[in-house]
Amino acid sequence: MNNAGATSGVPSQTANTDLERRWPAMVVFVTAWLLPATTARRTGHVRLADAWLIHLLATLLTILLIMLLVACAEPGRGVRHIDEAFIEFVLMIDHIAEQFARHPYVSSAALAGIILSIEIGHLLLALLVMPWGARDEPMRNSYRNAVRHMWLRTAHVLPCVLLVGTVSLALHHVEFEWLRANPVPKWPEPPAVAELDAAWVEYREQSARAQEALNTWAAQRRWYVDYSVPLAVQTAFIAALWLLWGLFGAVGASRHTPVIERPPMCETCGYNLSTMPIESRCPECGGAVETSLGPAARPGTVWQRGHELGRWAAWWQCSVMTLRRPRLLGRQLQTISPGTGHRRFFALHLPVVFCIGATGFAGFVAVEAGVDKLVDEPAMTLIMMSLFGCACVGGTVAFAHLAALFVGVVAGLCYGRNLLPGTIQIACYLGPYLTAWALFGAISGLGAAGLAETRWLDALQSRTGIYRYDIVGFTWFLPNAAWGVWYFVLVARGTAATRYANR
Ligand SMILES: [Zn+2]
Repeated sequence: MNNAGATSGVPSQTANTDLERRWPAMVVFVTAWLLPATTARRTGHVRLADAWLIHLLATLLTILLIMLLVACAEPGRGVRHIDEAFIEFVLMIDHIAEQFARHPYVSSAALAGIILSIEIGHLLLALLVMPWGARDEPMRNSYRNAVRHMWLRTAHVLPCVLLVGTVSLALHHVEFEWLRANPVPKWPEPPAVAELDAAWVEYREQSARAQEALNTWAAQRRWYVDYSVPLAVQTAFIAALWLLWGLFGAVGASRHTPVIERPPMCETCGYNLSTMPIESRCPECGGAVETSLGPAARPGTVWQRGHELGRWAAWWQCSVMTLRRPRLLGRQLQTISPGTGHRRFFALHLPVVFCIGATGFAGFVAVEAGVDKLVDEPAMTLIMMSLFGCACVGGTVAFAHLAALFVGVVAGLCYGRNLLPGTIQIACYLGPYLTAWALFGAISGLGAAGLAETRWLDALQSRTGIYRYDIVGFTWFLPNAAWGVWYFVLVARGTAATRYANR
């Protein structure tokens, strides 16, 4: 098939997938976790039914792997020898089979429920990531692309589970071995009440010795004894990021999409300009034809042309334009050959959002329980800060996609065209807005936490009868919801300017 955009004279954004060798679907088990984009390009031909079979196989293997890893660990006793672990694994399968034999209906219903929720979850997640890889194509093709790579990506879960499982087992093993060699020093028994003062004197001496032994023990304690659980949890975060990296890489991989033939349109009103000379004006709205079809139409964003200005100036100009004049940005976007500039622009903000989430949590704990709480339990603080940072990043990515999806689908139904390639770009160029929102959310959260403790709120609670935390929660929620709604409005405004895009 020809790649040239016949109507706009601009080649559509496709990879030379025809020239690349096709890989059989089973290859994903080897390459999906390492080369997501390449794997996606070479498995783009895989039928959805085959992708689902791979997904099924990978899910079964993942469940078996999890059971095997669980069988390897003996709670409170370290790691089992491989022979014992295998016996434990067989016993687990035997136990499950027994449950099915004893309660066939309940077990089958539970299994069906689990399978159904996994499948529905996959389909919904595919819907959410669909805008990331959308092209100028019928929307169902965008969805098929997302579902295909979502299903094939299940093969990536295997190495993720293996990584988290082996790291956890290794930490559990070294921690157990160390504690076995260096048991916690015992504390002496206090004397019974009836005994003489001499017993108390001896007890105090014993206590002092025990305290000394404990101090020495604590000083010799290895780092992995203190940090085995937090390190295992951090590994799980890394595995989750690895999986998301693979998913977005695969869904967003370049691919061949047949060119949709459209007449040249007035970018303002959609009037068919097929027979109009380039120097004339649109008979419908009076706009110059050149602004729609001339060489300067849709030049791409300032960010994409950043080399003219320098990165930071391009970032600044692009951010200001997206916030203040989203329609103008919409008129600059190339929706038939979108490129990947918007993705890099968006990704640039995610580490900042992570830091906002992590420090926001620390600040919240400091306000609620004092700084000591953070310092006393550094491992827990580290886990929770990572968790909140990751949650903020996840929420930001999910919200951007949700807005792109919602606006894209609604506008797509109105204009009979897949506008997702435009909506996702605008959603991404609003990265500074999302970052500012995260900052506002954190600061307003801290403010709300401080407000909850004031006497003024006491009075309000007794006067209105509304629970103080409901008042605080509502005060926090309302402005943050406004930020969310305004984000949708900005995406919609930008999208409106892409509905008649010629390139
Ligand atoms: Zn017009």
